[in-house]
Amino acid sequence: MKFATKAVHAGEEPDLDSGSGDVVIPIHLSATFARKDVDKPTRGYEYSRTGNPTRHALEVRLAALEDSKYALAFASGLAAETTLALTVLRKGDHVVASDDLYGGTRRLFVHTLSRFGVSISFVDARLTSRVMDGFRKNTKMVWLETPTNPLLTLSDIRALSRVAKRRGAITVVDNTFMSPYFQNPLKLGADVAVHSVTKFISGHSDSVGGALMLSDKKLYEELRFNQNALGAILSPFDSFLALRGSKTLPLRMERHQENAMKIAKFLLSHPKAKNVRYPGLKIHPQFNLAKRQMKGFGGMLSFDVDGGLPEVRRFLGRVKIFALAESLGGVESLVEHPASMTHASVPRGERVKLGITDNLVRLSVGIEDADDLIHDLAVALG
Ligand SMILES: *Cc1c(COP(=O)(O)O)cnc(C)c1O
Repeated sequence: MKFATKAVHAGEEPDLDSGSGDVVIPIHLSATFARKDVDKPTRGYEYSRTGNPTRHALEVRLAALEDSKYALAFASGLAAETTLALTVLRKGDHVVASDDLYGGTRRLFVHTLSRFGVSISFVDARLTSRVMDGFRKNTKMVWLETPTNPLLTLSDIRALSRVAKRRGAITVVDNTFMSPYFQNPLKLGADVAVHSVTKFISGHSDSVGGALMLSDKKLYEELRFNQNALGAILSPFDSFLALRGSKTLPLRMERHQENAMKIAKFLLSHPKAKNVRYPGLKIHPQFNLAKRQMKGFGGMLSFDVDGGLPEVRRFLGRVKIFALAESLGGVESLVEHPASMTHASVPRGERVKLGITDNLVRLSVGIEDADDLIHDLAVALG
């Protein structure tokens, strides 16, 4: 089956033999499941943390979308990341990660996992050689986010996965920005794809969730053990919302991309917008890599508002359709100011060195009419 068919049907085939034939899987709220036999659960389910039919349907859907053998759903993207880190890493292990990482991932490693003896180094992962230089004898994991947030730089997943494998480390790719529709890290050699399901996969800004997709059986069994042991599972209702949202993922991603491309071109020609960063633009320094490893360019872009902080604040105060909010990937367009919102916790010196200046704004382009979105930006830029 092709992507759009799997997005609608995988994990939700009507059960006409023993069920009532629901076309949409019910929200199984039961915390526990009765059995006929004391020795084993009758239909595979015993307790809802361990396994739940609605969550299971979502996990089948997510594996189908990423073309992986297995998927596991968690209470949030960070719950998925925590479970992955606590499963793979031991005291004394080291992680190499891209320096332009999602703030919550950075916080998890720097402030929490460090207390358990796990260390992390941040490198410019645009350059494969920098990642190699960051390796130590105890490096067990390479953590990539591509394209990055908010600067939209890329790392070469294929080259980096190969290097990591040769040195006995696993490669993890946070694939939230592209969704499984536009990029499949496992096909490029990565070991695990991480998603904040909250974003494009659910797509309606009404549910928080996370997922891990992978094809290695041994690692899957360890992760499944810890999904139950740590208990950071996705609820049945949120599993239903993610299942429902994911059905329109292909349609939404096409529209996000179409709108983002139009907006990027509009901003390129606007005198008050500088340094427009969108991987679909030929002027993007890594346009060729983007074309090679992604099937599309997504709905995220960033640019600098010309002037100083007062001009930036004026712009942010004047947009009407774009809501000033964190998060991304929903049907509605959002704008945010990384320096004071998502990346406020990154020390200023480090932030500016990375390119996250006070002028930078990030757009999550929604699926509204592109003309209305462009008009909104034009008025706000003034
Ligand atoms: C939002 C986000 C996360 C964290 O996911 P939550 O669902 O908010 O826990 C991780 N990575 C990226 C790229 C994100 O955008």
